[in-house]
Amino acid sequence: MKVLKFGGTSVGSASRMKDVAKLICDGDQKIVVLSAMSGTTNSLVEISDYFYKSNSAGALERINVLQQKYIALVEELYTTEISKKEAYEIVKSHFDFLRSFSKSVFTLFEEKAILAEGELLSTTLFQLYLKEIGENSTLLPALDYMRIDKNAEPDTAFIAENLAKQIANQPDKILYVTQGYICRNFYGEIDNLQRGGSDYTASLVGAAIHAEEIQIWTDIDGMHNNDPRFVEGTKPVPMLNFDEAAELAYFGAKILHPTCILPAKLNNIPVRLLNTMEPQAFGTLISNQSKKEKIEAVAAKDGITAIKIKSGRMLLAHGFLRKVFEIFESYQTAIDMITTSEVGVSVSIDNTKNLDEIVNELKKFGTVSVDKDMVIICVVGDMPSENIGFQARVVNAMVEIPIRMISYGGSNFNISFLIKAEDKKRALNALSKSLFN
Ligand code: ADP
Ligand code: ASP
Ligand code: MG
Repeated sequence: MKVLKFGGTSVGSASRMKDVAKLICDGDQKIVVLSAMSGTTNSLVEISDYFYKSNSAGALERINVLQQKYIALVEELYTTEISKKEAYEIVKSHFDFLRSFSKSVFTLFEEKAILAEGELLSTTLFQLYLKEIGENSTLLPALDYMRIDKNAEPDTAFIAENLAKQIANQPDKILYVTQGYICRNFYGEIDNLQRGGSDYTASLVGAAIHAEEIQIWTDIDGMHNNDPRFVEGTKPVPMLNFDEAAELAYFGAKILHPTCILPAKLNNIPVRLLNTMEPQAFGTLISNQSKKEKIEAVAAKDGITAIKIKSGRMLLAHGFLRKVFEIFESYQTAIDMITTSEVGVSVSIDNTKNLDEIVNELKKFGTVSVDKDMVIICVVGDMPSENIGFQARVVNAMVEIPIRMISYGGSNFNISFLIKAEDKKRALNALSKSLFN
């Protein structure tokens, strides 16, 4: 069985939903993971924000605006009066639920319940549409099988067991529709897999059922060789291996959520990135394929802070790096890039929640300087060190960009640069021009 995930834009309107239905109704049994309609999760975040600020009027106003969108959808999506009536009732009950929060204390717990509404709405309305057009489909409620543990990691055994049970209860269905993004946590509360997490749902579901393929359907024809939001004339990359795709996703290629690669890689399930608006396009196939010694793509990760620790004590000493890393560990702050010299070390982080505390502690070991508003530019491909020339080409392409850090050698798949945010667009374009033209 295949798992097909459709993102927010792919289910963003009545006509898009109808296109998705056409794509999936080919008689093959499959699991269909849906995101919330585009814009909905952002609206739900905003609504929660008003509730946090005890501004119920603000929240109610936003809820009304969002509800209008769904009312318009119902008018356009369904043909029969029976379906329309049922859809209006579904919409009403979900929006009444959102309104009910104006009467309660508002905490993270309530916020997560609100954020789940986007995927609950899109899947319920889509399933009703499939019913109207006579498809043999059913809903698999994600809240009954998708679970994370105390460390917010997926509980894979629970997921596999409960998903299998749900499918076994209705074995004769052709289409199993389920919610991306949402789950329950260790305490049984409604939770989620973080923004953009529907991709993660698709790969966890794929791994749980040993799917033959996971397809991520979105609004572009695959992983492009550079970020299309900043570079013109980017092209889809037909094939990537799991490591390359993971690097690109982690370093900013928004088309794929970074967590989504690991479950697929561990279970050796190919992931295909496809375009809902151009279904014939080949897209990108991500698999365990062998090496091919080629630079594939460039991505950029924003919001990076660089920290440099310079110390005479590091010279010929051992244990210095351990002390430095322990500080980051004690503040649960992950390090992205590292470069060292005999007298200092530079690291980059993206979580600055505990930056002041970290800097204070680091000052015990040396002089510390911090650069904010930085970006990691990441060049990805199969670039083995024995095969000379790749690294030089990449560095040459950056000839006009001031570089704060460079890193290669952690793997053969990645050369990273840390630069100022203001130079990002120039750097991405320079790399495209010299590596892919
Ligand atoms: P969905 O809502 O379907 O999950 P996303 O908005 O999360 O879709 O991801 C698709 C978007 O990712 C594209 O519209 C594109 O602008 C952006 N993107 C960023 N980098 C890349 C890249 N390297 N290749 C393709 N798309 C990219
Ligand atoms: N709806 C969620 C979001 O907007 C999850 C997703 O689309 O992947 O982040
Ligand atoms: Mg996405």
